[in-house]
Amino acid sequence: MPLEEVMKRGHGNFEVVISKISSLLGNEKVSTKEVDLLSYSHDYWPITLHWMLEGKVPALPNAVVWPESTEDVVKVVKIAYEEKVPIYPYGGGSGVLGAAVPEYGGIVLDLKRMRSLELYEDDLLLEAHAGVNGYYLEKYLNKKGYTLGHFPQSLYPSTVGGWIATKATGQFSTKYGGIEDMVLGLEAVLPWGDVITLKPHARSATGPDLKKLFIGSEGTLGVVTKAWLKVWPYPEERIMLSFASEGLEDALLSVRRILRRGAKPAVIRIYDKIETKRHFYKFDEAYGKVATVMIIEGDSNIASAERKIVEEEFKGKPLGEELVKRWLKTRFNVKEASEFAPLGVVFDTIEVSVHWSNALKLYNNVINAMRSVKGVLFASAHASHFYPQGVCFYFTFASTPRGKSPTEFYNDVWNAAMKATLESGGAISHHHGIGRQRRKWLKEELGSAFELLRRVKRALDEREVMNPRDMGV
Ligand SMILES: Cc1cc2nc3c(=O)[nH]c(=O)nc-3n(C[C@H](O)[C@H](O)[C@H](O)COP(=O)(O)OP(=O)(O)OC[C@H]3O[C@@H](n4cnc5c(N)ncnc54)[C@H](O)[C@@H]3O)c2cc1C
Repeated sequence: MPLEEVMKRGHGNFEVVISKISSLLGNEKVSTKEVDLLSYSHDYWPITLHWMLEGKVPALPNAVVWPESTEDVVKVVKIAYEEKVPIYPYGGGSGVLGAAVPEYGGIVLDLKRMRSLELYEDDLLLEAHAGVNGYYLEKYLNKKGYTLGHFPQSLYPSTVGGWIATKATGQFSTKYGGIEDMVLGLEAVLPWGDVITLKPHARSATGPDLKKLFIGSEGTLGVVTKAWLKVWPYPEERIMLSFASEGLEDALLSVRRILRRGAKPAVIRIYDKIETKRHFYKFDEAYGKVATVMIIEGDSNIASAERKIVEEEFKGKPLGEELVKRWLKTRFNVKEASEFAPLGVVFDTIEVSVHWSNALKLYNNVINAMRSVKGVLFASAHASHFYPQGVCFYFTFASTPRGKSPTEFYNDVWNAAMKATLESGGAISHHHGIGRQRRKWLKEELGSAFELLRRVKRALDEREVMNPRDMGV
């Protein structure tokens, strides 16, 4: 929709709501300035960069609100609920699927001013408000001799609340797990304004695990305001290893054997031949091969034992530390998508997971499906997260739409990749979530459980104020 038209949309009831919020919270926590509305019209959903270059925005909110406490969040949520005005929780805006796009207007609730941290060293627990920035959190822990072990590529632009809401996972996940393994308790504001605290006991058997309702809920069931996260002592030792294999299958089988023996390197990344050339072009020994980089870390005795297992099981040529160092240097690079759009190139990444038994089939099917869309310049992948049961493939495509709009073309590639994933027995998302880009496939992924999700949404949010229609629920 052209920007001028969107700017005219939806000012009515909203004015009453905004003035109520301003009088309760204070004007300095609320903005209706066009520049702020525009800034919060999108997240990092790559296709929206093309829309913005054409002078279109995905959607505009009517106001942006910056709460500074759980009490502030409660006040906003209660007013929105009474007046049936949509609310979109917002962390760093680094989501890549449009989950934070204010599709129906209303209030964007940016939690970044809620950023206090408290460490309980004896219990290896960190209390973190939802708006705490990822990089800041890790630095805070490192100074005290700890780590969270959560390093999404978007560590710098993302927040604790966003991690929980999207069920994020980081580059060191094979050892430390995804965010779902780190959250021990949380506080949330429900759509009608009640606050719940799910306490961070080491373990409890007190009915279903309610915190899991919020992990991956993308702001559709409430606002996460605080979390208690498990932390680890800062690793005593870090071992860097890399290998070159003749083919993807060799590397995958090697990693599978390592995991079956119980070793858990923190980082394992296997790059197909195209991505090996792209990332490691300076390394002659990796050229034309499949590169694997690994980091083993933790207590030095355990790390040495894991190293031994890796060296026994990995069938490939050891390439030493340099590839790992190169990866460490570039691992937080988040600028690719925004660099490509102004050149007219449609670029995106699609992450899915699959059991070991179907891994190679899925890789081939998704790559071929993407390449079958006319205009695709390249489609490639690396495997970035590993489990004894399976693996996550992270596909990348870049293309110049031929005779189609960027959006039509983008959707064609996505359709091809999602169809091939479902047909190959994969899960349609491993860690980016569903958002507005993937919602049309969620029903097929969940089968009859989609109705359960819809009913949970209706039961908790009967007025549909919380991030309406995100995930298609
Ligand atoms: C270059 C790049 C690399 C990335 N790499 C990774 C990666 O390695 N691993 C990974 O998992 N993801 C990755 N992502 C995706 C993204 O960074 C994650 O999804 C991240 O968790 C989003 O956090 P955020 O704070 O930016 O959330 P936002 O984008 O602001 O919001 C995401 C969703 O969460 C909801 N939400 C936000 N805060 C709250 C809250 N407090 N309560 C309730 N709902 C809330 C929003 O409404 C929205 O639905 C990457 C993104 C980019 C651009």
